[in-house]
Amino acid sequence: MVRYNDGKIELIKGDITKIEADAIVNAANTSLLGGGGVDGAIHRAGGKEILDACVAIRNKQGNCKTGEAVITTAGKLPAKFVIHTVGPVWNGGKKKEEQLLQNCYINSLQLAIDNHVKTIAFPNISTGIYRFPKDKAASLAIASVKYFLKNHESIDKVIFVCFDDESFDLYQQILKFEE
Ligand code: ADP
Repeated sequence: MVRYNDGKIELIKGDITKIEADAIVNAANTSLLGGGGVDGAIHRAGGKEILDACVAIRNKQGNCKTGEAVITTAGKLPAKFVIHTVGPVWNGGKKKEEQLLQNCYINSLQLAIDNHVKTIAFPNISTGIYRFPKDKAASLAIASVKYFLKNHESIDKVIFVCFDDESFDLYQQILKFEE
């Protein structure tokens, strides 16, 4: 684990379902009904309560749009909440993918504040099944979070949880360079 930004940003390599933050973020899909990758891992480890809460939201508002976020219980996970956000599918970069990925981070952080969340962990949204280039995604994630933290005092800590070495190294390089 490495700390940056006066301890406000932490970088961890590992499994986000194990993180004891107030909220962990899920890279969901528009259906909110679960999928592969980190989404599957969160639903498996968190149990049925999370899916039930997602179904209830879906029944009320329909699909979750790309770039937007919703919040549920974290079920059996050590976190208190799961914030589900829908990352963009990478389609070459001309379909507003970068803006939409930034929206994921900003909307998740805003929802965190609305729910008095102080510590929040993010996976590398869109960089798995959705094929967003890992280097671009890492830069956008870090820039979005830093911008948000500058303007919002109430978040104590943002944890970037990287599952693979490549992403961990990219985050480390960018965060170190900007210290
Ligand atoms: P997307 O559909 O948004 O691309 P994926 O779940 O396929 O979502 O991938 C997003 C990122 O989450 C990838 O970098 C993947 O390696 C990572 N990931 C997969 N499982 C976990 C996990 N248990 N904890 C943290 N990150 C994970």
